[in-house]
Amino acid sequence: MEINKVLVIGSGQMGSGIAQVLAQAGYEVVLNDIKQEFVERGLNNITKQLTRLVEKGRVTEADKEQYLANITTSVSYDDAKDVDLVIEAATENREIKLNIFKQLSELVKEDAILATNTSSLSITEIATVTNRPHKVIGLHFFNPVPVMKLIELNIGLTTDRETVEAMKTLSERLGKTAIEVKDAPGFAVNRILIPMINEAIFVLSEGISTVEEIDEAMKLGANHPMGPLALADYIGLDTVQAIMNVLYDGYKDPKYRPCHLLRKYVEAGKLGRKSGAGFYNY
Ligand code: NAD
Repeated sequence: MEINKVLVIGSGQMGSGIAQVLAQAGYEVVLNDIKQEFVERGLNNITKQLTRLVEKGRVTEADKEQYLANITTSVSYDDAKDVDLVIEAATENREIKLNIFKQLSELVKEDAILATNTSSLSITEIATVTNRPHKVIGLHFFNPVPVMKLIELNIGLTTDRETVEAMKTLSERLGKTAIEVKDAPGFAVNRILIPMINEAIFVLSEGISTVEEIDEAMKLGANHPMGPLALADYIGLDTVQAIMNVLYDGYKDPKYRPCHLLRKYVEAGKLGRKSGAGFYNY
């Protein structure tokens, strides 16, 4: 099936990045959110990003105008009926997402694909509230979307092959590399990455090494571009804790217990870059 028009639900950090890369790849995009000011904020972000690319000489002013012309905004589902694909990037909340999928599956074309950018929720469960469980898939982008090359294709128990192949083709057109991952708590990347960060926090809490030394160790000793504690600050310590909880609840394995020191930082409101302090001060 051919995909030309895409509805992006949620115009926050991820939704606006997703809309930008789709528009740059020539797709017709509708960027949706619950309030006009939110879609405008999303569109402003995209305009700023594209202006930066023009300044760096990576795209021309004419390209920028063309990309922006590929995007329209909406605060209703009026545009849903003729889209080929929905990519949902709304707030990470089970009720919100189930509600969106239930409503949209009644409005979109019979063969439209419904994708979610969820970081932690079950694709298989989201599929059950729709009238097309075989066409529901996780399309997991990474932050910042225009920069990060990976898309995890999170495949639910009922997702069919045709849907997976269509999303692989789309990923290629976006210049991204897609990997296939079965629907499971944390999927692949977060299941590997977040426990590594949690373990770094254990190392810190046991006084084995300092914040700076732990980060330096993983940069120089494991060739990571960023140390695990700096990365935790970037992701947000509340998000790191939430993902550890998803892993712990999902697998019931004590190896996924969140470090007590992580909990203390979250309780203290030291959430990383977004709150001005975490393992480092900003
Ligand atoms: P965000 O808070 O920046 O944006 C979420 C947006 O969704 C907000 O603008 C909000 O108004 C909107 N929204 C809420 N309910 C809605 C509804 N019913 N209809 C339309 N819009 C609605 O969040 P984000 O960081 O962009 O995350 C979005 C999704 O992407 C989440 O599922 C998150 O888990 C996932 N994700 C985030 C990251 C990341 O690093 N931030 C990485 C990968 C995946």
